[in-house]
Amino acid sequence: MKKITIIIICLGMFFASCAKQKEELPSETVIQNPFFEEWDTSFGVPPFDRIEEAHYMPAYLEGMEQHKAEIENIVQNNEPPSFANTIEALDRSGILLTKVNYVFQNMASAHTNEKIQKIEQDVAPLLAKHDDDINLNEELFQRTKAVYEQKDNLELTPEQSMLLEKTYRGFVRGGANLSEEKKARFREINEEMSVLSVKFAKNVLDETNAFEMVLEEEGLAGLPQSVISAAAEAAEERGHEGKWVITLHKPSFIPFLQYSEKRELREKVFKAFTNIGNNNNEYDNKTIASKTAALRVERAHLLGYNTHADFILEEYMAKKPENVYRLLHQVWKPALAKAKKEAQEFQAMIEKEGKDFRLKPWDWWYYAEKVKKAKYDLDDSALRPYFKLENVRQGAFDVATKLWGITFHYLEDMPIYHEDVRAMEIKDADGSHIGILYVDYFPRASKQGGAWMSPYRKQHRKDGKNIRPVIVNVGNFTKPTADKPALISFDDVLTLFHEFGHALHGLLTDCTYEMLSGSDVATDFVELPSQIMENWASEPEVIKTYARHYQTDETIPDELILKIKKARTFNQGFDNVEYLASCFLDMDWHTLKNAEEKDCAAFEKESMEKIGLIPEIIPRWRSTCFGHIFADGYSSGYYSYLWSEVLDADAFQAFKETSLFDQKTATAFRKNILERGGTEDPMTLYLRFRGAEPKIDAFLKRDGLK
Ligand SMILES: [Zn+2]
Repeated sequence: MKKITIIIICLGMFFASCAKQKEELPSETVIQNPFFEEWDTSFGVPPFDRIEEAHYMPAYLEGMEQHKAEIENIVQNNEPPSFANTIEALDRSGILLTKVNYVFQNMASAHTNEKIQKIEQDVAPLLAKHDDDINLNEELFQRTKAVYEQKDNLELTPEQSMLLEKTYRGFVRGGANLSEEKKARFREINEEMSVLSVKFAKNVLDETNAFEMVLEEEGLAGLPQSVISAAAEAAEERGHEGKWVITLHKPSFIPFLQYSEKRELREKVFKAFTNIGNNNNEYDNKTIASKTAALRVERAHLLGYNTHADFILEEYMAKKPENVYRLLHQVWKPALAKAKKEAQEFQAMIEKEGKDFRLKPWDWWYYAEKVKKAKYDLDDSALRPYFKLENVRQGAFDVATKLWGITFHYLEDMPIYHEDVRAMEIKDADGSHIGILYVDYFPRASKQGGAWMSPYRKQHRKDGKNIRPVIVNVGNFTKPTADKPALISFDDVLTLFHEFGHALHGLLTDCTYEMLSGSDVATDFVELPSQIMENWASEPEVIKTYARHYQTDETIPDELILKIKKARTFNQGFDNVEYLASCFLDMDWHTLKNAEEKDCAAFEKESMEKIGLIPEIIPRWRSTCFGHIFADGYSSGYYSYLWSEVLDADAFQAFKETSLFDQKTATAFRKNILERGGTEDPMTLYLRFRGAEPKIDAFLKRDGLK
């Protein structure tokens, strides 16, 4: 469940208004600004060495003006609306804006500074208005609608049909088809919800930051040195020199829950975390959550849907709320059974220690850690020497070479935005050019946490030419030190393979329209190409190719591989249950049929009772701090991670049934999934690859739930 920044340029479709001319910009800026030039770099990559912060805003402003002018041209066309002069023209519009936005957004995540942060704040409202102007452009919608109404007579390719469908639906879902009266209410609802979601996120952030648990020396019992050092640093930052501080950020309190011997302190921090937004103070989110859910129902009704989930899921692979619920229940039953067994095992450990209490939610991490060590004797530090970053990366590349014959060629002297970045060209089996991949793997203060893939240029066809992609993989893996190369954890190995899978989706794509190419696919489909790569990373046959001791070059011993494999299903009952509980909560909030405000606490309680959640576990996110669904874009979509896991496990079965590198299966995966982007319905693509709908069995087996 890593972050993928598929930079969503909301521009793809939309706009109106007067076309101002370039003359308004100082001509000097126009001449010197690299965004206003054709890039004559190798492979047309961004000239990072010449781009400065001062270039972004003028390029954004000019990009928006040009885009407006392009939209105006579409609207003013005297010819009757056609697929080419309206739908295709829209997909082709906004080139300069896209160009600057890709570079800027990548820089804002991977190598930011105060100037970039300031530009981010300034440009966000401008871009939002720019999108609204397009979405609500009545003339543009009428032209789109005219084309849409003739769709059956146009003899479109499947990809063209999909572009037409998505463009038209984008307008309709944005309220374009409503009466003036309903449009007015629709805008009011959107405005109110945008205010509520910002407030929700701010409350979570403020309450998170307001908490600190200051420890004296005796509070450190059981903590490993790395946790103590981090706590000392946090204390210093907060002006508690000589003491230690645990915060409500996961990297701080989760290790504390894992290792602290102080049960009352574990309880204190756990309760603080699970009650974020639920303390009846100025940060309380109960009313905001209820109000948001009610407004969503009202909006869904305006647009002609029964529930908010029906509105959202129409665009997802799952399509209907009942399909999501069916999947959740299928996994819930075995996961809950496994979690109950895990709870018994931990209770037995408590009793073995001679202690006299019942396992509570704040004990779970602590006893999971103890039982894991006792059962599997798996130690992260014994594994790292075998996972030298360069070898792991090569291991991932080798898998792709064996599957598809593609090769990787490092490029020197390419423009880069930081010295840690490396560039390479990807070639096909016949030696032809596929695309450019940058990798940027090490943490630094200017980079966001997590790992992701994003494009600098998306693949598409223009004037008969196949424009090939430029993609970046960003991560935060352990850096090399003076005496050691970069040695990463097995979790990081999986992350590297995962992000590389997203990169392959962006690189191997072979589509016509930018809006549909690469990883611009349904949210519950996008993790298939990434998660499937993690399967190869974990196969003993593949591990042995890349896991070699950095000093002796010795291949990883079978005994260690076996330990990794055995520990794979440990604590998966808990992992699935706490995640699924939040999925149910999300779906319950968004399948409400009446636009009335619920009592938040009572609603959550009832929702959890319905599924029989055990008292030792609470949902990963409770309603009042569930930012995914009340502040970000995951409402009715938190299940997507699970959906993709079912897909990737089932898809990988196709290789298990033949062989790990079966050429026929590999080609089918490339042709039907990796090359096709969002050009057809994901289930159609999947059926073409697999010959059958995904079955849940492989996933259940992998997580030890079957
Ligand atoms: Zn991902």
